[in-house]
Amino acid sequence: MDVIVLGGGLMGTASAYFLARRGLKVTLVERNRVGSGATVASFGNIRRSGRYLPQLPLAHRSLSLWREAEAMLGQDVEFRPTGHLRLVFGETGLAAMRAFIEAARPWGLALDELDMRDVRGRFPGVGPGAIAPPSRPTTAAATPG
Ligand SMILES: Cc1cc2nc3c(=O)[nH]c(=O)nc-3n(C[C@H](O)[C@H](O)[C@H](O)COP(=O)(O)OP(=O)(O)OC[C@H]3O[C@@H](n4cnc5c(N)ncnc54)[C@H](O)[C@@H]3O)c2cc1C
Repeated sequence: MDVIVLGGGLMGTASAYFLARRGLKVTLVERNRVGSGATVASFGNIRRSGRYLPQLPLAHRSLSLWREAEAMLGQDVEFRPTGHLRLVFGETGLAAMRAFIEAARPWGLALDELDMRDVRGRFPGVGPGAIAPPSRPTTAAATPG
């Protein structure tokens, strides 16, 4: 045995998996059940918009790993790229979102501003309180869902 990983959440299981793929002998020790910690509570978002910008390279890498996960693991991991909407409810929020869109571009995140009529057509539950276009990654828009 080369490595002992403590904790069978997302971090521990991913570490164990990738270490094993590199040829190391790994033992995973979980005190409860695998996936029973914070991992089971996760909403499952793989969000890039609104992130602290220096985190984006890691977030891009994470997204590309999720895209490969089914082929890598040989089973459906329920990854469904649907895009991510951010709704704006005030002028201050709108300015902040537009500033984020500009700032994120050099970090490799291209976000679209959508027309509210289009959004309300696609998402009838969005009420009149939302005053401005949400944004979504163009990369996600190019994928199904
Ligand atoms: C409500 C909620 C929603 C979330 N939504 C999102 C989301 O949408 N997107 C996102 O990216 N993140 C989300 N997160 C965060 C994400 O779930 C966590 O960052 C992630 O699951 C942490 O994984 P982990 O492996 O570090 O911890 P855990 O999943 O908590 O795993 C730790 C494991 O270690 C075990 N353990 C602890 N001590 C020992 C020990 N001494 N010996 C053996 N085993 C031990 C525990 O039993 C547990 O199974 C959310 C979190 C919560 C709570």
